[in-house]
Formats: sequence, C-alpha cells, structure tokens
Amino acid sequence: MNGRHRDMDLDNPENIIPPEFRQERQNPQMPPKKTMEPTSPSANYQFKEKPKNTSKVESIQPKESKPINPLQKYFRTPNISVKLPSGGSFNHPNDIEFNTGGELDIYPMTAGDELVLKNPDSLLNGHAIERVIHSCVPGIKNVKTLPNIDIEVLLLAIKYASYGDNMELNVKCPSCGGGNECMLSVTYLLETAEPIDGEYTYRYNDYLIFYLRPHTFESQTRISLAQFEESKIIKSLLISEDTNDTEKLLEIQKSFDRVTDFNLKILSNCIIGIAVPEGIVQETDLIEQFVLNADRKIIQNLREEIIRINGIGGVKREIEVECTHCQHIWNTPLVYDPSNFFA
Ligand SMILES: [Zn+2]
Repeated sequence: MNGRHRDMDLDNPENIIPPEFRQERQNPQMPPKKTMEPTSPSANYQFKEKPKNTSKVESIQPKESKPINPLQKYFRTPNISVKLPSGGSFNHPNDIEFNTGGELDIYPMTAGDELVLKNPDSLLNGHAIERVIHSCVPGIKNVKTLPNIDIEVLLLAIKYASYGDNMELNVKCPSCGGGNECMLSVTYLLETAEPIDGEYTYRYNDYLIFYLRPHTFESQTRISLAQFEESKIIKSLLISEDTNDTEKLLEIQKSFDRVTDFNLKILSNCIIGIAVPEGIVQETDLIEQFVLNADRKIIQNLREEIIRINGIGGVKREIEVECTHCQHIWNTPLVYDPSNFFA
C-alpha cells in the first residue's frame, strides 16, 4: 500500500492530474478562439427613430484599459444613502466601504435582482438577499458578517430606491376584526432606525466577562434554514405510516438533539471574546469548547443577554394603527420579511 503510494509520488501535483487533462497544462498556448459572427440584429440594424444629432457611437477605448460602454452614464445611479445602525463596529474595516459622509450609497435593483427575490429557495438560503445587497450596495464587501439589523435597514433602503416611499401594510383589527390597509413611509422607517452600541459586555462574575455581538446575517439565515429543515422532518415523520411510534419518538429525539447542538453553536457565534484573569480568549474553537462545557446557568444567562441585544436598535418593530371601522388603536408588529415586502 505504502509502496504504491510512493510509486505514484503524490507530492508531485502533475501525477494526480489524469493524462487527458495534462495536455492543456503542458501547452498553455490554446488554439485561437473562433470569432462570433454577428448574429444579433442590433449589430447591423438601421434604427428608424433616433435622438437628434446622433451618429453611431463605438466603445470609447482608452489606452491599455477596458473599453467604456457609452451607455454607462445611463446605467442606474444611487438615489439614497443610509447609515448602518451598527456603524460597522462589529465588522472588519475591509468588510464595508462607506462614502465620504460615513453612509452607504443605495442603487435601485436590476431586473435580475428582482427575479432572484422571487425564488423561494434562494430567499431561504440567503443567496437572494446576498446577491441583491452586493448589487445595490457596492460598499458592502461581506454581507454574511453584517449584523442582521443592518441587513434590515439595507433592504428597506433598496426597497425605497427601487419602488419609492410607500409600503403597504394589511392588518386585521383585534377589536372588531375589520381589515385595514395602511400605507407606511419607508423614509420614516429609515429615519427612525436607532443606532446600536459598538460593544456589548456581559459580566457573569469577577472571573468571566463576555464580549457579545448581535446575530449576523449568516447566523440568522442558518437559524431560519435549520428551523425549516427540522419542521419538515418532523412533519413528514408524523404522517408517515411506515414508521412505528417508537421509531418516531427516536427520530424526534434526534431532531431535538440537532436543534440543541445548533443553538449552542449559534450562541458561540455571538461571543466575540471571553475575558478571564489569564487574558482574553477570542479563538472560535476555544469559545465553542467553553460553551459546550460551561455550567448551564452561564449559558442560560448568556442566552437571555443575547436575546436582549438582538432586540436593541435598528428599524421599528411595531407601529401604531387606528382602525378605520371602530377607531380602536393598537400596536401591530412590523415584520421585515423580504419574501413579502418586496412583492
Ligand atoms: Zn376595528
């Protein structure tokens, strides 16, 4: 066995590449690509209606750089800029590039962005939001590590940039049951978004101080995805006729264990560092080991503290509504779920 491995000489990458692929590496000089015949009618088409005083424009080709598309100045432009509630304090400086005013420029969505938001799978796994933010907020270099409250502000700003200020809200009056159609102002929601502190510390006792952060977009997405997957498993298990009750109980227990492990992992993600008399520990795997082996009281307290932190700041979570039928006034929750608020 060992002899064969030595014969193959796995240290030399050339020997791992199957022979049929080696050719290309040995001859990097590829045959020249065939040039495409102009198949699109636009290449030769004579337009009947033209703006006055225009002649055909070729790409303007500055020396030694990419040609500039003459249509570029008609591309979308940013039409709003926003501050992040976190101010970027939980991110690496390379993750965000603010404009000179310390804000982020927001562009309207492209047709492609709008399409990707209509795909339920892409929405669930976070891909759609990531793509739309990359496209509309070029200042954000890393969407995954942004606090979730920043994501909500960015999505609202993209909604404003793409569809204008009105946001429809349909609510049912808790008093008379009548339906109410309200119109919310996106600008108002953005202006009332509250900043958050740049650091959260939680002192458990004199020996243990925790540095905490709110959920990132990535952890929030993983939470939604895990909840979705587990509830799907449980649902199909409950209606299954091939599984007996003992097996069902066992599977439910397994699902419960997965959720517990997952929640502890997510909790670890919210701990940036732990200060102990020996120093400050910031390594992710060491923090995870601590969370798995700590006294349950510490974890319970941390969990409550993290829930508290995640409820602080950002856009309004509820709004006062007056019923048009019975004049009852109540506070209705605002849910920033991109699967319906871009619709
Ligand atoms: Zn009412």
